[in-house]
Amino acid sequence: MTAVDTMAGRLAQIQQRITQACERAGRHPDSVTLLPVSKTFDVESIREAMSLGLTRFGENKTQEIRQKAAALAGQGLQWVLIGHLQTNKAKDAARDATEVQSLDRPDLAEALHRRLQNEGRTLDVLVQVKTSSEPSKYGMAPEDVSAFLRRIATEFPTLRVRGLMTLAVNSPDPAEVRACFRALRELRDRLVQENIAGVSLDRLSMGMSGDFELAIEEGSTEVRIGTAIFGARTYPDPQ
Ligand SMILES: *Cc1c(COP(=O)(O)O)cnc(C)c1O
Repeated sequence: MTAVDTMAGRLAQIQQRITQACERAGRHPDSVTLLPVSKTFDVESIREAMSLGLTRFGENKTQEIRQKAAALAGQGLQWVLIGHLQTNKAKDAARDATEVQSLDRPDLAEALHRRLQNEGRTLDVLVQVKTSSEPSKYGMAPEDVSAFLRRIATEFPTLRVRGLMTLAVNSPDPAEVRACFRALRELRDRLVQENIAGVSLDRLSMGMSGDFELAIEEGSTEVRIGTAIFGARTYPDPQ
């Protein structure tokens, strides 16, 4: 059964659309990873997703990661923080997150590094970049990213930079949305030329339920999909 009123059906449909977008873009389907975004959905929903083979989940709050990780302990799950992280929550992220995609400022990098040193571990991070002019969106200004990467590489060795992340503008105009994704890819391409030691920029996390096909066409390596897999969220999610 592949009806879209089941999670299995919705997941199959998303995977098919990812494959088709890759084909249109002349890309291999394996070049795009799906990050299911389970924020606001309960442990039962995550169990259902696990039964479909999903083991890595995007969340936007450290408290929610903590609760879900405790309820689902010992099952090899990975928790990816994609939401805005307050500096005073760095300790929780350093303890519970497998990866942070919302690293957007030096004081957060510093706080994470200090906590990671205490935990004796390293953390994969993506730098979140602001590619739209929407005041409600977080992210570092593109022109500041180069200096930030250099600082991470020299001062915060527990942070392993793997790439960049962005949220596109909320717009009905696909050209405006596409421009955000393209800006992130072009920024990445320029930064790669700088050859900053210890920094990898292989990953571009961009694209959500409403815009992931455009993101794939513009070079996304990871799409973060919530509602199109789990269904509508019942309470609002401030980004
Ligand atoms: C909620 C969220 C998503 C997923 O959004 P959907 O529209 O539900 O797919 C992706 N990225 C970030 C940063 C989010 O906060």
